[in-house]
Amino acid sequence: MFNTMSIRARLIMAFAVLLGLLLTLATVSLQRLDRLTTSTQEIVNVLERRALLAKRINQHAQAEAIILLNLLQTATRDDRVRLYAALDEEMAASGQAVSDLDLTMLSADVQQEIDHVTDLRQRYAILLQETVELIEIEGTSQARSFFEARTQKVLNTIMFDTRALEEHMQQEMQTELLMLKQSASTAKQLVIVLAIIALLVGALMAWFIARGIVIPVREAVLVAQRIANGNYAIDVPVDQRGEIGILLQALRVMRNSIASREAKIMRLAYVDNLTNLPNRTRFIELLESRPSDEQGVLVLLDINRFAPINDALGHTVGDRMLCAIATRVQQLVKSTDIVARLWADQYAVLLRGVDQAQAQATVLRVIDALRAPILIDGIRLDVDISAGAVLFTSNLADTNCLFRFAGLALATAKRHRDPLVFASKMSTEPVPAQLSLIGDMREALTRGEFVIYYQPKLNLAQHQITAAEALIRWQHPVKGLIPPIQFIPFAEQTGFIREITPWVLRQVIADAAQWHRDGLLVVPSANLSTLDLLNHSLVLDVQHLATQSGLPAHRLCLEITESALMDQPELALQHLNELSQFGFKLSIDDYGTGQSSLAYVQTLPVNELKIDRAFVTGVDVNSKNAAIVRSTILLCRELGLSVVAEGAETPQEQAWLKDNHCDLLQGYVVAKPMPLAEFIPWVKKFNQA
Ligand code: C2E
Ligand code: MG
Ligand code: MG
Repeated sequence: MFNTMSIRARLIMAFAVLLGLLLTLATVSLQRLDRLTTSTQEIVNVLERRALLAKRINQHAQAEAIILLNLLQTATRDDRVRLYAALDEEMAASGQAVSDLDLTMLSADVQQEIDHVTDLRQRYAILLQETVELIEIEGTSQARSFFEARTQKVLNTIMFDTRALEEHMQQEMQTELLMLKQSASTAKQLVIVLAIIALLVGALMAWFIARGIVIPVREAVLVAQRIANGNYAIDVPVDQRGEIGILLQALRVMRNSIASREAKIMRLAYVDNLTNLPNRTRFIELLESRPSDEQGVLVLLDINRFAPINDALGHTVGDRMLCAIATRVQQLVKSTDIVARLWADQYAVLLRGVDQAQAQATVLRVIDALRAPILIDGIRLDVDISAGAVLFTSNLADTNCLFRFAGLALATAKRHRDPLVFASKMSTEPVPAQLSLIGDMREALTRGEFVIYYQPKLNLAQHQITAAEALIRWQHPVKGLIPPIQFIPFAEQTGFIREITPWVLRQVIADAAQWHRDGLLVVPSANLSTLDLLNHSLVLDVQHLATQSGLPAHRLCLEITESALMDQPELALQHLNELSQFGFKLSIDDYGTGQSSLAYVQTLPVNELKIDRAFVTGVDVNSKNAAIVRSTILLCRELGLSVVAEGAETPQEQAWLKDNHCDLLQGYVVAKPMPLAEFIPWVKKFNQA
């Protein structure tokens, strides 16, 4: 019954019982003490009075004897009359004392003694009367003989008896006092017993209450700990009532709401809201939890020209397109493969247990299937996808690296307008992990760790250096000279290129202005990225820098890749036109790696075309490369573009290019890129020779 009560009720009950016991104890003790005090007082009073009366009776008896003896010796009648009066007085007083004593409630034996004294007194009174009569009638000598023979005996007995009575009374008083003492000690014992009982009952109740509260609270704590550890399946006891029952009920509610909230949070943290695909975080988790010996391919898919669709048709259409693509990709891969949306228009696919050839077939099939137009609200949308992929085996496990390689491959695919590029070659190049941090690059910029190297462009007809390409390097305090391939693609991906390009342009324009003042007829070129071409303030900055430094615009060349024009062709073209109209020379870099034709290039306001190294290498022996380069040179002539052959490494390639009327040559056969301090004397020496 006790356990079913609430804690409040239990405490109230326990304290009530304890208080009741203490109250009883106090009342009983007080009553006892009170009674003891009054009865002691009463007893003392009565006994005192009795002893006093007994004493008085004895004193009166003595006085009477003295008066009588005086009487027997008094000769004159007048003197005797005075003594008679005194005797009467004493007799009356002693009679009064006897009757007073008789009136106090007496024990039987005392009563007997009193009765005996009263008897003696009556006999004495008669004898006294007779003695007095004899004095008056016969004379004192006769009376004395009578007195000695009869009265004196009774008088002595009275005196003796009253004395005994007095002692008896004293004794009785002592006995009574002893009894009272005993009763006081009994009361004391009773109080002690009651106090012990109260203590025991109190302790017992405290134990019961503590037990009744502590055990269920401990259980509740255990439940709370399990919930805190994420065990939401735990049963919360339901058999408790009162406050503990309420607490457990609250725990139950808490468990349920935490579980549902956690499920919601997990969803928010792991699922892409739009497509219901795993998000980047989840994808990385799954990627990292793959078996350590599993081989597979990580593919990044990116929609080309998604931004214009979003802008032109609105985000609702863009969102539906993203969902449709997600569904298609999922249907096209195995159920064990993982498809995720990383962000915006980029998806990731983990193809498990495949080699490069199998992955290539799958990805090309996916891209091909995705090319089938998507119908949204009657609008036919053509989807074009670029993919970057990286093959992983057990020994290349770092997720960051995989993403970097796949990202670089994707950037290459976009740049070259290839549907799919594999990063297998890149994977052999060491990529310092720290370079992934923009923070590192930003610090490098403020610490002045970036440097410009110049690689000369040789005018083949004049055999003079007439131009040079500015190529950035990172002079890392620990890792040494880092080539641009290791950080420029990442800077482009993260947008940090927006801070690098202006720095490069400032250096190059300052150098060009100095060369111009010194009469060094070399036109430097700087590389621009996609983001730069979409940035109007950069266009204005270059113009401003050139004007400020007094550099004629035609003494600066800007290199762009065709892929840089693909993202937002209109805006890029508008900026190109502005730059060209200002007078800068423009050059198409890495020509041949993309898909654009010369017919397209000639619509751009460019002056120069750089044939990619892939076609220049072995041009003297590779007839296919030779055909491509030769026809390109011929067509450029027709179109009024000068041609630069990139990456010629042998004198044979150089000779072939010269024989085929290529305008300029940039390659190791002439010189590798070199710092400014080396470059100037090198050029002067070369051109004089
Ligand atoms: P790119 O603009 O096509 O530059 C030519 C690259 O080919 C340079 O590599 C150059 O050193 C290399 N090269 C020239 N001749 C030969 C040769 O005979 N054999 C071989 N094997 N390579 C040769 P680098 O300096 O490593 O630059 C790589 C790329 O990094 C550049 O390609 C360019 O796309 C980018 N880059 C370099 N500097 C900058 C910059 O300041 N801004 C931007 N946005 N990109 C830059
Ligand atoms: Mg270049
Ligand atoms: Mg190039």
